[in-house]
Amino acid sequence: MGKIVGDAGAPLPAGLHLVATPIGNLGDISRRALETLAAVDAIACEDTRVTGGLLARLGISTPLIPYHDHNADEVRPRLLARLDAGESVALVSDAGMPAIADPGYKLVRACIEAGHAVSAVPGANAALMGLVLSGLPTDRFLFEGFLPAKTVARQKVLHTLATVPATLIFYESGPRLADSLADMAAVLGARGGAVARELTKLFEEVRRGTLAELAAHYAEVGPPKGEIVIVAGPPAARAAESTETIEQMLESALRTMSVRDAAEAVAAASGRPKREVYAQALALSGRKNETAG
Ligand code: SAM
Repeated sequence: MGKIVGDAGAPLPAGLHLVATPIGNLGDISRRALETLAAVDAIACEDTRVTGGLLARLGISTPLIPYHDHNADEVRPRLLARLDAGESVALVSDAGMPAIADPGYKLVRACIEAGHAVSAVPGANAALMGLVLSGLPTDRFLFEGFLPAKTVARQKVLHTLATVPATLIFYESGPRLADSLADMAAVLGARGGAVARELTKLFEEVRRGTLAELAAHYAEVGPPKGEIVIVAGPPAARAAESTETIEQMLESALRTMSVRDAAEAVAAASGRPKREVYAQALALSGRKNETAG
């Protein structure tokens, strides 16, 4: 306690401090992050090897406490007990902003409920960096994080996003990139997109194009190395979906879903009445069966 942080010279207050760490470039650690990590009584982190390595490079020897998806329910009360005792605890993730596609939100909520102070030291975040580099509209965006790994589940989620009037941001891995982009092109339709890779690192790359162009590119060149953010532009203004567009959406949904699920997903995505879309889905699947028969 009583250690000094920042120019103001104020002692680090007790409570939880969310501290952003670099997403690939050590130079992105902020001065306040360094000071906070050195001053807290303990640092809760996802993987002690990852954070231990980072701290060694920064010359910081604050004790680490593992806090990850598999032990969080058990460790959270112990962290709260330390805060009750007047200690200060930092929370970091392996990279970037804690609690964004990483553990943290339940700890923040528990701290707020218990009346502990919660503060955050801002810093690197892959989603926002991908967004600002994409060249797509930044005024309104939705961060979806990781999509499901399997196509049916992935398309289902994409259908729920199809009419969201905002730029969409996803996290993705190399091996799934081409399939995810193909599903996005099929379900979200003709939109601009960007694939941002290895952000802040030596081989940082941002590839821009339509979702279909990006899907075709990565299907051809194979899975890229490194960490990836996908950004998809907002839908073109769709005041009222034409029957033809609903039919296209249904056709794509029916490739992987039952008539009922496809109708539900497209009704939700288009805002058209369920009954009407269901009737259209039935007719469409009937026509398909006739053709197949
Ligand atoms: N909390 C982190 C943040 O604030 O960005 C995200 C953690 S999430 C478990 C990890 C995912 O973020 C990666 O799979 C990748 O999709 C994305 N990511 C992290 N670092 C990245 C980088 N340097 N370049 C591109 N994407 C990155």
